[in-house]
Formats: sequence, C-alpha cells, structure tokens
Amino acid sequence: MSVLVEPQQHQLSTRQLEIVAQLVERVRAELPYYRDAIPAGLTIRSREDVLKLPIMTKEMLRKHFRQLLPTDEQGEAIEWWSTSGTTTDRVQVAWAKGQLKRGHQRTFALHKWKLDQAKRRAAILSSPICTGTQCHMDMSLSYEDRVISEWTETALLSLNSGMNPSRFGVSKLEEMIGDLDRFRANTLAVDAAYFMALARYMLAEGISLRTPIVHVLVKDQLTSKIHKRAICEALGVARVTEVYGMTEAAGEFAVECEHGNLHYSHEHMLLEVVDRSFQPVPAGGLGRVCITTLDRSVMPLVRYLTGDLALAAPAECRCGLAEPAIGLIQGRIQDLVTTTAGAPVTTRQVDDAVAAAARGIDWYAVLQRGPARYSFDYVPSLGARAVHDPAAAVVDALKGLLGNDADVQVYETMDIAPQKSGKYRTSGQDPVLTTFEL
Ligand SMILES: [Zn+2]
Repeated sequence: MSVLVEPQQHQLSTRQLEIVAQLVERVRAELPYYRDAIPAGLTIRSREDVLKLPIMTKEMLRKHFRQLLPTDEQGEAIEWWSTSGTTTDRVQVAWAKGQLKRGHQRTFALHKWKLDQAKRRAAILSSPICTGTQCHMDMSLSYEDRVISEWTETALLSLNSGMNPSRFGVSKLEEMIGDLDRFRANTLAVDAAYFMALARYMLAEGISLRTPIVHVLVKDQLTSKIHKRAICEALGVARVTEVYGMTEAAGEFAVECEHGNLHYSHEHMLLEVVDRSFQPVPAGGLGRVCITTLDRSVMPLVRYLTGDLALAAPAECRCGLAEPAIGLIQGRIQDLVTTTAGAPVTTRQVDDAVAAAARGIDWYAVLQRGPARYSFDYVPSLGARAVHDPAAAVVDALKGLLGNDADVQVYETMDIAPQKSGKYRTSGQDPVLTTFEL
C-alpha cells in the first residue's frame, strides 16, 4: 500500500479535481499528444492522481506542437501568438478567439477592485516583444490606433513602448504623460522595468498626472522593489500589485493579494509549485511553477513547466480569498546565482538585498562571473549622482547575501539594456557555472 504524503499547499477542492478529470478525458479524446502521453487507465480522483500526469517542458511544447492542435477544422477560430523567448527560444502558441478576454475576466474578478469595470480606464505599457504581435509597439502608432476595445470590457490604451527604457527620450516620455492625461487613465498595467523610465522622469521633473491613478498592476517580469518604490512615489499610490501570467497561458491568470500570495481562479487554472521530481513543495518552500490550463479549448497545457520559481503558499491565505494561491514568483531558474559556498540564490533574494541597501539606483544587474566573483552594474537615478554614491552599501548587502569572501566589482553605467526578448536579466551567471536542480 502506498503512503500518500499530504502536501502542505492548498489542497485541491472536489470541484477542481472534477474539472481536471474532465480536462484529462477531453484532451485524451481530442489531441494525439495527450493520447500517447497520459497513462492509459488513469482517472483523476485525487491529488495523487494529478501527480501521475506527465510534465511538459517548453522543448516538448515546441516538438509536439502539431499533436497539440485540434484535428477538427471546424473548431473555434484560432489566434496565433508567440512567446517573447525569455526562458528559452520563442514558443509558438495558439488559443481560441476570446480566450484572453475570458481569462482576464476570471482573473480580475478575484480581486476586490475599488473601481467597477465600466469606470476603469487602463493604460498598458508592455515590453515591446511581449507577444510578437499586437504589443509590438516599438513603432510610433497614433493614439487612436492604440486604444484597444476588443480584449476586455475595460477601456484600454497601449502606450508606445521602445526597446530600451533607459534610452527613452524626453519626447517619448512627454508623449506618454500626454497620453495618460488625454485617456484619463485611472489604472496601469505595466512592465515596471519599462514604466520606470517614466516614473524617474516624473520624479526628477516634479510632474503629476491630471487623473489620479488608483491601481497599478505590474506584470511581464519580476518587479524590482526599486521600481515599485519609484512608481509609488511618482504616482502617489500606496502599493502596486503583482500579476502573473505568460503568453502560453493566454495572458495573466494570478493576482497578488495584500498578504503577498498569487491567487488564481480554480476554474481557469491549476498551479503547482514542485520539486525536481515534480512533487509538491511544502508551504514556504521554493520550487518550479507548473501550470495546467482548465478552460482552454485550443492547445490546453497539462503540467507545463514555466521556467519560473515560486514559493509554495500556505494552505489558507490570511486574506480570506477562497480561491487557491501560490506564493510570489522568485525569478527564473536560468537566472539563479549561487553564494560563494554554492547555495542557489534567486533574483528576488538579490533584489531584496540591493533594494534595501540602495537609493539612487534605477536599474541594475548582478552577474556571477566565477564561483566567488560577481559584477554589479547600475544606472543611477536622474540627478542622484551628485548626492551620494550608492555602491558601498550595495557591496556590503551583496556580501551579506552571497558570502563575505564575495568579490563584487561595481560599474556605474548610463544604460542597461534588456535582453533580446525585451525582458531584463537582473541576476544570473555569465558564463553558466552551475546546473540547478531545484
Ligand atoms: Zn491571499
């Protein structure tokens, strides 16, 4: 008799198990990939059964792409998208028309918004290659062309972005401020590393928006505390809210609550935080994020490894939301560094140390160059250079995190560019030194 070790994460509700069971039956009947990959005779009745479902990696998604598409040509209209290629090469994905809108409705219904849907006017600033299609705003589209109505029920304005926010010129920044005023935006959904360009400019120039911003959602990549702080100061908001999603999952699907957990709709998604054997990690532990899409008619994903790391949430979140949760995203597996003793350190841990020590830094990157050698590159805040040199405090903080014998070289620069995916790499090994097996 096997002994089931009960995970200390959120248990799956009966309803969620039923939804997973239906999904398994459906994908096995409809899609050649799952017909072969899911063990014959497996019926989902318990959490333990879910753990018997096969894991899918990005590589497998790319390799088996055709076997994941519906064979029924009369199926729903399909939209084609591709990922930005942050964790590996870009991945082609497909979803049914309307999936993004349905997913957003489920996701944002979780949150206790102070604004009702009809009054919300949201401005979006994505990294320019967020999907390779609609969000590719490195060009200068007209204001009229950037007002989007078909995605959600909320009025949306996409701000013109660019490849490298630390090089946004005054005219682009003034255009963004003009757009936000003209649109009367009261909500922002932004990649904070990009919006930082605007926040630092507003702080340096003492600019305020005419319409107060009520909610700021930060998305697309792990948000630095440095960027959260600057955005709160520039906009006069108390906090920003992290949301989590990815192109493969048709957008954002989890929203941070006031206790720092990412809640998601149990009808929309199943999220797991797993160890290297794909078993649940105990509450508070660090593991890989694995998603199962539950309401997707085109290209459903079963136990798909996102390449991200998160903490496992406690069984009950103190915020009182009934929907399940995982802890906050801690960074990407490929962006881990190690202490001088070889222990893994996440992007979030690096950021906590740097942000606590530093004022006067707007973007930075910590790269591990050798077992005990690190570089710290940073872009100073506008006008901050004359005030003080932030480097000494950061070196102390990084030694505290990485080891007293860490050799940290500091480089001040005017420009840290994102990677070709449009995402930043604020920590990582260069060259690759360690194979991480979390
Ligand atoms: Zn919560």
